[in-house]
Amino acid sequence: MTLQRVLPFTKSLLEQVVQKGDAVVDATAGNGHDTHFLAGLTGDSGKVYAFDIQQQAIEATRQRTEAFRHVELICDSHAKISQYVTESISAAVFNLGYLPKGDHTIITKADSTLQAIGQCLERLKTGGLVLAVIYSGHDGGSEERDAVMDYVKQLPQTRYDVMKYEFINQQHSPPFLIAIEKKQQRQKK
Ligand code: SAM
Repeated sequence: MTLQRVLPFTKSLLEQVVQKGDAVVDATAGNGHDTHFLAGLTGDSGKVYAFDIQQQAIEATRQRTEAFRHVELICDSHAKISQYVTESISAAVFNLGYLPKGDHTIITKADSTLQAIGQCLERLKTGGLVLAVIYSGHDGGSEERDAVMDYVKQLPQTRYDVMKYEFINQQHSPPFLIAIEKKQQRQKK
């Protein structure tokens, strides 16, 4: 298959930008798959900040990443990223929606998601990526999807490239990826 599914494509973008020694954010740790992947990319000279509001998710992520010492697990909302992350980051990843095999009524919400994306953009290095995998099939999902789309569409094109990666012939609200790359700022003359 030549066209990658959304999650493998997201990982291939992370592989291109995240270097050993980088600091990165997993804004929705969940069961820890992305945190584990980012821990491998950054190496023990780097740092992964992983957020989740559910203790169950933090515990699952702790178990999945116990081999790594450079993962900081934060049981708090990603709306407070800037309180915990003060250094520059090369990437942030969001996997929106609910915790698989968890409580499906605990979902990411537009307000906190937009605050978190904004705070990650403030910390993002030139050439860095903020990636958001968006699911909209659940209750509340379409409101969040629409709010994220409205927000990213108005990001200035002089500062950011914003891309949507989506299979447009799939049924039942398939997930899609929004990727935001911070561009080199032109020097003022
Ligand atoms: N990336 C995860 C993985 O690899 O398993 C899956 C993430 S799951 C789709 C979404 C997660 O976002 C849930 O675990 C949920 O608890 C978490 N979440 C919801 N609202 C949040 C918030 N405001 N801040 C941080 N995490 C939140």
